Amino acid sequence: MLILDGSYGEGGGQILRTALTLSLLTGKAFHLVNIRAGRPRPGLRPQHLACVKGAARLGQAEVQGAEKGSRELVFRPGRLRGGAYTLDIGTAGATGLLFQTLYLPLARAGGGRLILRGGTHVPASPCFHYLERVFWPVVCAMGLSGELHLRRYGFYPAGGGEIRADIAPVRGLSGLDLRAPLTDPSPVVLSVITADLPGHIRERQARRAESLLQARGLSPVLETATVKASSPGTFVGVVGRGETARAGGFALGARGKPAERVAEEALRPYLEVMDAEAAVDEYLADQLLLPAALASGKTVLRTPRLTRHLLTNAWVIERFLPEVRIEIRGEEGKSGEVEIRGVALF
Ligand code: ATP
Repeated sequence: MLILDGSYGEGGGQILRTALTLSLLTGKAFHLVNIRAGRPRPGLRPQHLACVKGAARLGQAEVQGAEKGSRELVFRPGRLRGGAYTLDIGTAGATGLLFQTLYLPLARAGGGRLILRGGTHVPASPCFHYLERVFWPVVCAMGLSGELHLRRYGFYPAGGGEIRADIAPVRGLSGLDLRAPLTDPSPVVLSVITADLPGHIRERQARRAESLLQARGLSPVLETATVKASSPGTFVGVVGRGETARAGGFALGARGKPAERVAEEALRPYLEVMDAEAAVDEYLADQLLLPAALASGKTVLRTPRLTRHLLTNAWVIERFLPEVRIEIRGEEGKSGEVEIRGVALF
């Protein structure tokens, strides 16, 4: 059995999520110790537990240690089963991260539907609009297909959101060249607030994002909306397209945080992509490692920042798939390139 140390590198929840996905796909059991040892509240939190339970259902796995606060987990996968799954995190935990744990095994199992309940726009995770407009189009360019729907918004602290993903069986995954600098002259700006907040917040968020992009010579296209949710929330997003690449930046509002600051935070990762002449944002870079490692052929991506998250994810992938080749060109925290030679598991 593969023994993994959850305190490695960043020591966060991604080690668990990547291990679950790869265990389901390779059939290799694993024993994870020191779960999330690098985090202020270590062990399994509700969103991680939902990933373990979801993965166990999809892969008919035997599991030990799947309890709140647990710092150790043994996961022995069985046979993958496609079909429809409804999973409820029970808190505002990120449905986006649960989706990213399960979409590849489900595609491999012949496809199916995921209905995921929890947070749809919550901190430190890809929000629904990031999944839909940045992550999913690039993964589909590799060979996946399916549709993502937002059925209810869920902000922190109430959660209560719901996303639905219809995932088609996959016929093969191929690597991508994601090096050409992003040159989209008209990135899309999203400014969304819940109906219980004053409309000027939505407008101020949009104007600040628009003027920052115009100052760079760009002509942003604005999309604004007022939506229903169980607790108040706002966000700003910016999304730009390359030929196949995408880059985005999203930030959430909070009580006492000026609307203009939300826009500035959202644009930061996007403007870094432009300044570094990169093709994808720093988050997409770490999220693409997994599909790239499973694809046939080579993926090369240029990122504005080689994050510790990316380096940690590469380490987990290499533990499960020793034949994969991940070459990181550059230093942690700086811009660089990642070249992944996949193992053609799909
Ligand atoms: P934890 O132990 O707290 O659960 P973690 O390792 O699960 O930590 P993070 O390191 O915060 O969580 O990141 C989780 C994932 O969310 C990463 O893949 C990262 O790329 C993604 N992510 C974080 N913030 C954003 C964002 N603003 N937009 C898109 N993706 C994001």
